[in-house]
Amino acid sequence: MRLKAIVTLKCPHCLQGAVFRKPFIMHPTCPHCHIRYERERGYFMMAVFVGYVMGFFVVVPVLAALYLAVQPTLLGYMMGAVAALVLAIPLIFHYARVVWMHLDEFMDPRPTSPL
Ligand SMILES: [Zn+2]
Repeated sequence: MRLKAIVTLKCPHCLQGAVFRKPFIMHPTCPHCHIRYERERGYFMMAVFVGYVMGFFVVVPVLAALYLAVQPTLLGYMMGAVAALVLAIPLIFHYARVVWMHLDEFMDPRPTSPL
């Protein structure tokens, strides 16, 4: 259930409300259960680290594929990595925030009724 909510970018608390209003723009609160997504100032800084991990899992397969297919120069590897990351930025941005919120909710659940 939670995995489905992560894949569909849903609220970490009720697993039903949408997190994003439109691409790159979040709802400040859940449209369904009305919890505030940004628990505290700087809350989404940890999403940056989640994004680093996601970026690693995007770049490594691309570099492995480049090595196996064409064995480019160092510049070729760098251009491949940059191209893969640029193409993956929208996915990484959205999923890093949602994965972070779900991890945080799993480790530190909010009360079931809003305060
Ligand atoms: Zn919710």
